[in-house]
Amino acid sequence: SILFPTRLRVIQHAFPDRSSYRAWLLEDGFRSHFTDPRALEHTSSPFVWFGTGEDTTHPPSSDSIQSYLGGHDATLDWCRQFMAPCETVVNELQMVDDGHKPDHGYDYDLVVIGGGSGGMAAAKEAAALGARVACLDFVKPSPAGTTWGLGGTCVNVGCIPKKLFHAGSLLNEAILQDSPAFGVQIASEIHANEISTKVQWPVLRENIQNYIRSLNFKYRVRLREKDVTYLNKLGTFKDAHTIEAVDKKGRSSTITSSRFLIATGGRPTPLSCPGADLAISSDDIFFMEQSPGKTLCVGASYISLECAGFLAGIGLDVTVAVRSILLRGFDRECSDRVGKYMEDHSKVKFRRGVVPSKLQKQENGQIEVTFSDGSTDSYDTVLAAVGRTADTEKLGISPLGIKVNPKNQRILGKYEQTDCPNVYAVGDVLDDTPELTPVAIQAGIKLARRLFGGSKEPMDYVNVSTTVFTPIEYSCVGISEDDAISKYGEDNVEVYHSEFLPLEWSLSNARSHSSAFAKIVCEKAEPQRVLGIHYVGPNAGEVMQGYGVSMRQGLTYKQLTETVGIHPTCSEEIVTLNITKSSGEDAAAGGC
Ligand code: FAD
Ligand code: NDP
Repeated sequence: SILFPTRLRVIQHAFPDRSSYRAWLLEDGFRSHFTDPRALEHTSSPFVWFGTGEDTTHPPSSDSIQSYLGGHDATLDWCRQFMAPCETVVNELQMVDDGHKPDHGYDYDLVVIGGGSGGMAAAKEAAALGARVACLDFVKPSPAGTTWGLGGTCVNVGCIPKKLFHAGSLLNEAILQDSPAFGVQIASEIHANEISTKVQWPVLRENIQNYIRSLNFKYRVRLREKDVTYLNKLGTFKDAHTIEAVDKKGRSSTITSSRFLIATGGRPTPLSCPGADLAISSDDIFFMEQSPGKTLCVGASYISLECAGFLAGIGLDVTVAVRSILLRGFDRECSDRVGKYMEDHSKVKFRRGVVPSKLQKQENGQIEVTFSDGSTDSYDTVLAAVGRTADTEKLGISPLGIKVNPKNQRILGKYEQTDCPNVYAVGDVLDDTPELTPVAIQAGIKLARRLFGGSKEPMDYVNVSTTVFTPIEYSCVGISEDDAISKYGEDNVEVYHSEFLPLEWSLSNARSHSSAFAKIVCEKAEPQRVLGIHYVGPNAGEVMQGYGVSMRQGLTYKQLTETVGIHPTCSEEIVTLNITKSSGEDAAAGGC
């Protein structure tokens, strides 16, 4: 009788002399084996067995043979038929040893829909491994009419413009607040020893946009250099091996491929109250011709707080409408510290426990916002940052059996495999994965290597470091104190913490009352495995990256604190943490 594993992966292995090919069907401890599918395809030899032996280099003994399925195609058909309803990973068998490719008769081996972080990375990697690859990227204008070039969210309307605006705002703050303490005076702007600045939004915007345009150009060149066919077209599935591709002028063509990768990312979720179309989103803010002026940021997570932070940092009047808490999912104590710094230092106003219930244009051009508590205020700009929704609605995937999470339209699947055997998904479009650029890139590269390079390595979504680029930055890797306590119990968790003044802030009157913060969350039992590292302070992204490496190796408290620090840095605080929260001792370490 045929066994029906709940999870199955077909992996090919090719020997350099091409004399023999073997493949294993793997399912946890259960393994099967067959040799040279090409040669045996035309014979009646029983070359697909299901066995239980651990030895994968020799055929299983005849008494472990369970069933004969047929050749390469029959095996795949069997997998599709019986595995599809299960949690399936079916990597089509492919000869990769010396460039031999099965002649499947399609235009491409892989067509990637979406030329953002994940899509471009996968396309380039697959092409480097010898696959014939096309990558479609098409930007639908935002409701406010904004559009941009190749590269996806990160480069055009995400990480890159955000970080550059953030850098501009930090520079402005440093000049205004810190430079006097360091004796820096700006000759043309000295008024009775007070420095004032004015950030010229159009200049900042234009320089950032020029830089982004240079990146758009570089991405096109790189795709060409890597032999990836770039198509500035919108893709929609017609069947599992065919898409319709429509260009800007509405001209349509049909493209076929053995496999498809959906990497279409997400788009900002609009507000749903009356007048919602008066609000812009992060797809528009970086393109505004003139300064946004007095701004309301709706939402209290990464995007809203980062935008509120850089707008306040360049001198604008900014309010954040917080529905519930800041930075849901992050460490509560650290998130509150971010909020407090933004409130005290950057003068961002927080309206807590409210959402906009109506937006109305006023005669003076401002937008009057009525909040859920009945109060009103007027703003030049309302920025909605209330989450993102995957761009899957019009992709035509439902007839292929591909399921999405109804809450956010993100594709459901494991190991980047959708419910359609030859269609994969990476990046923001894949449900239950962090919406971060390096995650999309790495998942795309690893998938390409599994599909075309014989790799077996899955993407590891655990212990991904991240940084929130707020005026005081916050980076972390691993889990929060709150999550550790709910997972392991309060008695089983030890927290080491430290509140400290970064040396570079110590001369500045404006900063000397603020503090940075570091904490590590560990298992209490020896060897005190580190569960999470959190840092709120300057250069948080730079601080956390290396700790991210050590967390992947199973870092313990002892290993961390046996590491000699680099002095004088903020990062050294993490390797010298010794005050436990449970001791009740003050987290303020003080001094050098
Ligand atoms: P995307 O980069 O979104 O690319 C998808 C592409 O597919 C888009 O170009 C889209 O137009 C195109 N497309 C969609 N449908 C079709 C179709 N049918 N046919 C053809 N093309 C199509 N992450 C970080 O790691 N660090 C940060 O600092 C950071 N900051 C961010 C700031 C903001 C404001 C935002 C919005 C996001 C930020 N992110 C950040 C998240 C990061 O940008 C995303 O996680 C990343 O871009 C996702 O990459 P992706 O390949 O999944 O999709
Ligand atoms: P998130 O989904 O992370 O957060 C949405 C926020 O909006 C929450 O604060 C939520 O509040 C609030 N919200 C939801 N609906 C409403 C509503 N109807 N009215 C008012 N508030 C509402 O979305 P973001 O857009 O901030 O970010 C999307 C993703 O992009 C992030 O998860 C992140 O992965 C990525 N990103 C990464 C960055 C980085 O690496 N630095 C920077 C920016 C984005 P509540 O908590 O009450 O649900």
